[in-house]
Amino acid sequence: MGLLEGKRALIVGVASNRSIAWGIARAMHREGAELAFTYQNEKLRERVESFASEVKSEITVPCDVANDEEIRAVFEHIDDYWDGLDILIHSVAYAPRDQLEGEYLESVTREGFLTAHEISSYSFCALGDAARPMMKGRQGAMLTLSYLGAVRAMPNYNVMGVAKASLEANVRYMAASLGNEGIRVNAISAGPIRTLASSGIKGMRDFLAHVEKVSPLHRNVTIDEVGNVAAFLCSDYASAVTGEITYVDCGYNAMGMG
Ligand code: NAD
Repeated sequence: MGLLEGKRALIVGVASNRSIAWGIARAMHREGAELAFTYQNEKLRERVESFASEVKSEITVPCDVANDEEIRAVFEHIDDYWDGLDILIHSVAYAPRDQLEGEYLESVTREGFLTAHEISSYSFCALGDAARPMMKGRQGAMLTLSYLGAVRAMPNYNVMGVAKASLEANVRYMAASLGNEGIRVNAISAGPIRTLASSGIKGMRDFLAHVEKVSPLHRNVTIDEVGNVAAFLCSDYASAVTGEITYVDCGYNAMGMG
């Protein structure tokens, strides 16, 4: 029997076959979960529908996380299919490209700062609060994706690191809010992976090469490895884990000197 047999999961953040959310969806499907997906906009609809059908899901809903009405509509739609929800995956981040290069104070703007925080951090609370009624009392689990830039200053990552610090604090505050309802809230801090979002960060190739050189495992992590840890953290085997940031980065964060 799979780790997630009988569980129902909503996956927010699939954009391509390289998306971390897709690695998570595949692992959760393998472990027996039923899945539903959102897509950011009409351009991504067909692609996400086709990914969904690969994992036997017929539930796909539009959701731009900047839009409260769309967030509300997601759960109304899912409620037509399911009488409850066990897992919410938030795998979403965005900052304008000009924010993700050069020196932090030279690149950061008021608008860039607000956008990065709204899409990459606030959206987790907004989705979590909207999901809450369907998840209450079911041993639910919410999971988001962070990066080491939340706790260390990384080149070019800039305002996204500040937004990830906010997201990690969000994990702790949401865990405190939702614990009484039996809902756990965690994050995976993943090592660098080549995806659409990460291609917007200047020097991504150097990040990947550095991890390969310095990390204890001397390689980069895959979306399937992140998916496996996500499946565990959202399963009942992790029933006492909440408010936690788990590194899935081939050990890179443990190193002091390369
Ligand atoms: P990705 O481009 O595949 O996924 C990013 C997703 O965010 C896309 O599905 C996109 O549609 C969605 N998105 C952006 N703005 C949105 C909006 N307004 N409304 C709804 N959806 C929106 O890239 P990814 O690397 O898989 O990113 C997923 C998460 O993993 C992000 O939070 C990212 O910061 C995090 N992460 C990535 C890496 C990496 O190196 N790739 C490392 C650690 C953490």
